[in-house]
Amino acid sequence: MEESIFAKIIARKVPAKIEYEDDSYIVIHDIKPAAPVHVLVIPKRQIPSLNDITAEDAKLEGGRYLVVKNVMKKLGQSDYRTRFNYVAMARQTVFHLHLHVLARGDL
Ligand code: 5GP
Repeated sequence: MEESIFAKIIARKVPAKIEYEDDSYIVIHDIKPAAPVHVLVIPKRQIPSLNDITAEDAKLEGGRYLVVKNVMKKLGQSDYRTRFNYVAMARQTVFHLHLHVLARGDL
């Protein structure tokens, strides 16, 4: 599998504004934010899309939502929406399963 742009960010081969990182996830600010606060919650394992998720990956999924809660609290946000884009029809462009989290910030 070709290394995704997010895998390159995880490996520090490409810079990004990193908000949070643990053994399973990294959270970065989107390079083209669609809202005043727009972060991406990315598993360190390169799962291309939801169609490729394994039972082992699924065990980590609950942790993703705790990461969302903690990062948004750190960013002072309690009102936000989340979005996965799944494959082409949903306009997924980076094939490394990521959750978008968008908030209006202070606006
Ligand atoms: P998708 O359409 O696949 O759900 O969204 C991919 C997201 O990744 C887009 O919102 C895009 O702006 C973001 N993105 C793509 N390349 C980079 C990058 O190099 N750095 C960061 N921080 N975000 C990126």
